[in-house]
Amino acid sequence: MLDLIIIGAGPAGLSACLYASRAGLDVLIFDSAAPGGKLNVTAQIENYPGLKPTPGPEIAFTMYESALSFGAKMEYGEVLDIKDYGDYKEVITAKQTYQTKYVLIATGTKERQMNLEKENELVGRGISYCAVCDGPFFKNQEVAVIGGGNSALEEAMYLATLCKKVHLIVRRDVFRADKIIQDRLLKSENIEVHFKRKPAEILEEDNKVKGLVLENSETGEKEELMINGIFPFIGLDPMTQCAKSLGIVNAEGYIDANENMETAVKGVFVAGDVRSKQLRQVVTATNDGAIAGQYIASLK
Ligand code: NDP
Repeated sequence: MLDLIIIGAGPAGLSACLYASRAGLDVLIFDSAAPGGKLNVTAQIENYPGLKPTPGPEIAFTMYESALSFGAKMEYGEVLDIKDYGDYKEVITAKQTYQTKYVLIATGTKERQMNLEKENELVGRGISYCAVCDGPFFKNQEVAVIGGGNSALEEAMYLATLCKKVHLIVRRDVFRADKIIQDRLLKSENIEVHFKRKPAEILEEDNKVKGLVLENSETGEKEELMINGIFPFIGLDPMTQCAKSLGIVNAEGYIDANENMETAVKGVFVAGDVRSKQLRQVVTATNDGAIAGQYIASLK
């Protein structure tokens, strides 16, 4: 039986892995994608203490290397369910069932969809939720970024370094992003902000995006915007599917924990963006992971 299974290899899961395996626990960490989580889709991190502005994927790689440097193992795959048997838990994937004393859920969040017709079928054909991954396909073209939060503004500024023009579509007449990021964005010459507008319809030709119908949030009036790419950054939804049967997901869709990151189910822990909390940042995720990893090690 393993000591600890960590579900999710983002900053929270990798930090917990580092602390727990360094303290001598037998740790297995799962992810269905590349380790690093959202770091992999973030152009630049400039608010992680002690680091100069650094590309997200670079931090992801060093975090992964250090997390596995004390003997922990990583496996690729999706965890479907967690079963609680008191003193031990079962972690179920499509291929196998694992037994472990403790489980840490560090599954993070995923990008919210606009819920417009054809949105799913046009992903990869003009719609993308990752500017770092797909921005270069839109070099010297016009694109729209949807949202007024930190993600939308930061990704719009990154896309502005590649694209001819970026249209930022904001549904209210104010941004939600931090002031420092707003000030920086407003200096970009090739970003046009469209306040009080929301996406109403995707225009396509030959199964590729060719524009967006925007609706005025106040008057309901509609207008067409001709662009080649759409990057929605309209918020994040917690990924809690594997925890549903444990009954620990709250009404907002997140998982509550005490200050040791322990959930209502003994032996099941939570860390990172999927935990109920105020501030979702890389530094708060690594903080959660460190606390959980160290605390779990102290229980052995
Ligand atoms: P946010 O929830 O902060 O912002 C979402 C934005 O999308 C808001 O402007 C919101 O409008 C808008 N929106 C929501 N739904 C729709 C819709 N259906 N149609 C159009 N617009 C919509 O999400 P983010 O992904 O930006 O950020 C998530 C978290 O991650 C935050 O805590 C953020 O601070 C953090 N983060 C921090 C970064 C940093 O510090 N460097 C970088 C990136 C993210 P409205 O305001 O009207 O609700």
